[in-house]
Amino acid sequence: GLPRASMVRPYRLGIMGGTFDPIHHGHLVAASEVAARFELDEVVFVPTGVPWQKAGRRVSKSEDRYLMTVVATASNPQFTVSRVDIDRPGNTYTVDTIKDIRAERGGNLDLFFITGADALRSILTWRGADELFGLASFVGVTRPGVDISMSDISHLPADKVTLLEVPALAISSTECRNRVASGLPLWYLVPDGVVQYVAKRGLYTGANESDVLVP
Ligand code: ATP
Ligand code: MG
Repeated sequence: GLPRASMVRPYRLGIMGGTFDPIHHGHLVAASEVAARFELDEVVFVPTGVPWQKAGRRVSKSEDRYLMTVVATASNPQFTVSRVDIDRPGNTYTVDTIKDIRAERGGNLDLFFITGADALRSILTWRGADELFGLASFVGVTRPGVDISMSDISHLPADKVTLLEVPALAISSTECRNRVASGLPLWYLVPDGVVQYVAKRGLYTGANESDVLVP
């Protein structure tokens, strides 16, 4: 007969949140590595709406960041993109992201929130922190230059938080933006389609009004 619901393996969904201004190979390698190690069925990339951690900075329009994320992930059948954060007005809080993704998908889901290990350190300061560990597991990926060890996260529940070393990629969006601004190439730091999108829209050159100030 049909398997009972309790016997069906939950769908394992990774959530990769980020500003993605622009998305780069560091993000893609991290998502791919977590998907492999945690046997995820899918990773959904979620570009942030207003990134409150980046108050006072200029950030490209949501629609540009969303489209770059779509372009960058299009060739991977395990990667998708969600608009939940850019369509929700106001600041983006991880607790809302996770709840909205769960509501959007419904059903038998195991969620894995993927974040830079640097961000994990401050996770308890995030809004809704008390709820977070009931909603998802957290995977902190270590990036070059960020020295973090288990002792830094010993205050977090051990069964809900894992650190994972990903192949070293010293790429950041900040570096990508600075390179464009000073006329250096973006090639091979981000997917080809993203290089072309940045050029087509004139992003990071200061030459257009394609960015907004984070309040
Ligand atoms: P910025 O330089 O503007 O802060 P960023 O490169 O950190 O951008 P974000 O969009 O802020 O990119 O990052 C989204 C998530 O991806 C964060 O959790 C961040 O820690 C992680 N991340 C960013 N770059 C890397 C990398 N090279 N390797 C692994 N994880 C990364
Ligand atoms: Mg960052």
